Amino acid sequence: MSLATQPPQRASSSFACSSSSARLCLRPAAPCGLQKRGLARCVVRCDAESSKESEKFDPRAFRRSLNSSGKYTRRVADDEGALKQMNDEGMAPGELIAQMREEGFMHKRGDVTIKLAKSYGFCWGVERAVQMAYEARKRHPEEKLWITNEIIHNPTVNKRLKEMEIEFIEDTDGTGKDFTGVEDGDVVILPAFGAAVEEMKLLNDKGATIVDTTCPWVSKVWNAVDMHTRKDYTSVIHGKWAHEETVATASFASTYLIVKDLKEADYVREYILADDEKRASMRPEFMEKFKNAMSKGFDPDKDLVAVGIANQTTMLKGDTKALGQLVQNTMIEKYGPENVNDHFMVLDTICDATQERQDAMFELVGQDTEEEKRSHLPKDVDMIIVVGGYNSSNTQHLQEISEHNNIPSFWVDTKDRIDLANNKLDHLMSWGELQTTENWLPEGPVRIGVTSGASTPDKVVEDVLDVVFAIKEAQMQAA
Ligand code: SF4
Repeated sequence: MSLATQPPQRASSSFACSSSSARLCLRPAAPCGLQKRGLARCVVRCDAESSKESEKFDPRAFRRSLNSSGKYTRRVADDEGALKQMNDEGMAPGELIAQMREEGFMHKRGDVTIKLAKSYGFCWGVERAVQMAYEARKRHPEEKLWITNEIIHNPTVNKRLKEMEIEFIEDTDGTGKDFTGVEDGDVVILPAFGAAVEEMKLLNDKGATIVDTTCPWVSKVWNAVDMHTRKDYTSVIHGKWAHEETVATASFASTYLIVKDLKEADYVREYILADDEKRASMRPEFMEKFKNAMSKGFDPDKDLVAVGIANQTTMLKGDTKALGQLVQNTMIEKYGPENVNDHFMVLDTICDATQERQDAMFELVGQDTEEEKRSHLPKDVDMIIVVGGYNSSNTQHLQEISEHNNIPSFWVDTKDRIDLANNKLDHLMSWGELQTTENWLPEGPVRIGVTSGASTPDKVVEDVLDVVFAIKEAQMQAA
């Protein structure tokens, strides 16, 4: 069937295993057992009857009903006691960081010059989520509290919440999350990057009170996806199919395809522009390539006729824009500029915080203007330290920027990665390899660029810098 003649089709929204049972699976096409640890597509193991899969479910109507259920909140209470506790426990802006800001994002101590990125660390969405978690603990001192997954991607914050007796519902063995322990009357906190609508329904059915800390920027993407659904457009989501935020976003889409980068987008472009014969030959490969990244029943011949762009908020903004442009140009080429609006839509859903941190990183590596890019001006840092959780997508992109600019860049999640006595550290590369570097801090003067991911408290950065200063001091004393 020709793509040009096929009208947009909307796949019925299905909700597998949608009972109050604690067993449900978001993606029958992606067996739970195949999921990467900690990045599960499945909420919990699925062994419920498949007949439920055809049950119609309207995520939008459900979200509306949740709002008026009396057991759901998504607002910050601005409880001063909770805020004070949070700040006392290291979530407030740190003294050294504050001093650096006053000194023009610079700090010199002995041989070390630190250049701090102009935008770094906790974004307001993360700060808000952590604040809501503290408030929930204070407001529900007797109830059992849970968090689905991690509230944010930072080990220090999550450790503190565990100490506050908040239980984590995690995918510990790669087979999905198990909600069996959640009972009527418990309180469940949903993370800043959101939760799949199926999870929300399951928790609601169980009688739990839901504290929804989903960042409004993520909700904005959901609204875009909802718009696609209402207009019978397929959502093309720029993101990683296993990332929790993208799992949640996809759960609100009726028909979707998750595309992780421009290379994959180019492949989709080729498919859309191919003639019938070529498409028939490409189809098996297409289905295999995107088997974990498409909605149930996805048919590329029918579902790529009219598409809307959505994004995981932590992807590189330039990549999201380029991907949207590529898809738009594809539709223009296929259907003509006069018809493009019938086949393509995009809403601005790139998060400001992500954008600002990435821009500041480009500035730090000396690549924030076109002139700098052309002239290859010398960098004014010798190395960069990126601080943030190892499962934090936005931190990974910050690390990626310095790697692409050939600056030695060390991504650590806590100070414990640094061996002070031996001037050695374990650090993660953007492609996921944990490396060990010895003598990473050279003797003599060194200029270090520093940034941190959107879920990293200043205290974690300051702890890392304290170790840096200690190593350099030891070197100076030994000289
Ligand atoms: S990075 Fe953006 S979308 Fe994510 S929590 Fe922060 S403000 Fe929200």
